[in-house]
Amino acid sequence: MESEVLSVLRSGQIAQGTRVASLETQIAEMLGVDHVIAVGNGTAALIAGLRSLGLPAGSEVITSPFTFVATVNACLSAGLKVRFADIGLSDFGMDPDAAAKAVTDDTRCLLPVHLYGQTADLAQLADLAASRDLRLVEDAAQALMARFDGRPAGTWGTGCFSLYATKNLTSGEGGLISTNDPDQAAWLRAFRNQGMVERYVYEILGDNLRMTDLQAAVALPQLPVYDERVAARRRNSDLLRDGLAGVEGLTLPGEIDGRFHVWHQFTVLVDETGPIDREMLAAALAEQGIGSGVYYPRLLGEYPHIRDDGRVALGETPNAAHAARSCLSLPVHPKVTENDIEHIVSTVRSAFEQKP
Ligand SMILES: *Cc1c(COP(=O)(O)O)cnc(C)c1O
Repeated sequence: MESEVLSVLRSGQIAQGTRVASLETQIAEMLGVDHVIAVGNGTAALIAGLRSLGLPAGSEVITSPFTFVATVNACLSAGLKVRFADIGLSDFGMDPDAAAKAVTDDTRCLLPVHLYGQTADLAQLADLAASRDLRLVEDAAQALMARFDGRPAGTWGTGCFSLYATKNLTSGEGGLISTNDPDQAAWLRAFRNQGMVERYVYEILGDNLRMTDLQAAVALPQLPVYDERVAARRRNSDLLRDGLAGVEGLTLPGEIDGRFHVWHQFTVLVDETGPIDREMLAAALAEQGIGSGVYYPRLLGEYPHIRDDGRVALGETPNAAHAARSCLSLPVHPKVTENDIEHIVSTVRSAFEQKP
């Protein structure tokens, strides 16, 4: 990585150039799509991806209330209305039945989030989109190379990815949009670069969303080891699931049949009626020097600026509310060793045994 970045610095071409192009080509190959467009971050990917649909003013997007705030920020920034549909607790993704019930006359788009590295039920969501004439945009920020029936996240609709520092593949800051539609791809390439199709020929109102070659140089050396790193995450999740099986009051995450999980996060639910609560478990882990995280502690509709935005319809989302109250993510990244996992497992087990 250091040598790639250094050679960009020495080349004198540090803005968008050949390395960004190479990253786009390689990711397109990985995903098996015709076009990948790199942008400055995942939020920009979502905004541009939504704008590229050219939806009429007042169009509504159905999405999850249990996600990173960027998902909803992007919808509102793209000038769209938002309606929340509940998630399923087995995959933390948009529940197709809830989404079907949420569709209104204004709905034009479904925006499922492939949370923690496992896809939502893409077959059913794609069917719903087709039957109700809706576009499908996927927030695959946490799910690069997650698959449903062998087909990668982000290739069922317009795919939006993040290469932020904490994601499975990173450029520090970065984003990607994937599509098989050549016109949409051309629009996105123009949009990210001031609407320019050739020097001083501006065809649409654009923006500056360009990724730099410096960022691409950080991501490129990770590509040959990407599958290996996902395999390490998968191994760690297996060890955690084996070690934590049977702990009463703890619901473990799993890989659903037919899906391929890339384990961006390993997220347990600490049952509210169980012997200890989430905060007690997090404290017990912290005491042993083990980091854990709450992604995400609140439904997006609880934040006043979202709740009170006239364009947002909250709906009833009890599963999402339950997840927000009880989720806790344990370390699963490739640098976590087998010894670390033993330590995590014994710490969790004794926290549940030493209940007050
Ligand atoms: C990281 C993330 C984003 C936003 O990506 P940035 O690169 O941080 O802008 C959007 N949605 C989800 C679910 C994410 O995890």
